[in-house]
Amino acid sequence: MNVTLLACTPHPEGVVYTAARLCYSSKGIQELLREEGASPKRLIEQLKASGHHSVLEHASFTFGIEGISRVTTHQLVRHRLASYSQRSQRYVSEEDLQYITPPSVAENREAMDLFQQVMERCKEAYGRLLRLNIPKEDARYLLPSAAETKIIVTMNARELLHFFSLRCCRRAQWEIRAVAKEMLRICRHVAPTIFHNAGPPCLRGPCPEGPLGCGKAEEVREEFAWIA
Ligand SMILES: Cc1cc2nc3c(=O)[nH]c(=O)nc-3n(C[C@H](O)[C@H](O)[C@H](O)COP(=O)(O)OP(=O)(O)OC[C@H]3O[C@@H](n4cnc5c(N)ncnc54)[C@H](O)[C@@H]3O)c2cc1C
Repeated sequence: MNVTLLACTPHPEGVVYTAARLCYSSKGIQELLREEGASPKRLIEQLKASGHHSVLEHASFTFGIEGISRVTTHQLVRHRLASYSQRSQRYVSEEDLQYITPPSVAENREAMDLFQQVMERCKEAYGRLLRLNIPKEDARYLLPSAAETKIIVTMNARELLHFFSLRCCRRAQWEIRAVAKEMLRICRHVAPTIFHNAGPPCLRGPCPEGPLGCGKAEEVREEFAWIA
């Protein structure tokens, strides 16, 4: 799995700061941009705490994600306040099918043999359908959800904070969780105040999942110690 930041709003924290200041100041935008002694950190912390989150929408981030399964992109695209472009199985041939193997399968020799046999069988059958002049868009119906894919995703900072709450949590599946953690690591580096303490809700208070929670909040807090 490979996650790359392709682009983001220049000076994301400055833009969020200016947007927030504009709401409460009689100054013009150029004047606000020239403000001396401005402290984006304190104001952004206040905004996050008070729930004035709409200003976070002015900062957006575009990621390129490769080497993930269609299982995971199916989960990812459920997040509606985002833009996506994904490699198409209608137009791009999957004759050289690459696939993602879950660690639980990789650790079990018998399961791994079975998994690989079925993947190879899918690959072979797909190729045969193409040779029978079945269009790619129909041949793909027999491809597995494990098929490797690539996707570009753009989210604003408000949506990213929500996404990290849901998908960095241990209730999320291992693959999307790994993607979300990597995205968070990048965001934290680029916009440390906006993404301070982002991640699963148990980093900020009690777990909201009730009986469905993992019951390992202490372990999760250690895992995310780098975000605090
Ligand atoms: C652990 C886990 C298990 C899951 N299991 C399942 C499952 O079994 N089956 C399944 O179908 N899905 C499942 N999902 C997906 C889940 O139901 C959501 O579709 C997905 O997490 C996107 O979240 P969202 O709707 O909050 O966020 P987004 O689409 O990212 O939207 C962000 C926020 O915008 C607001 N919003 C967006 N669209 C609307 C709207 N139309 N109306 C009102 N407000 C809106 C909401 O406040 C929403 O929280 C699971 C998700 C997780 C994290």
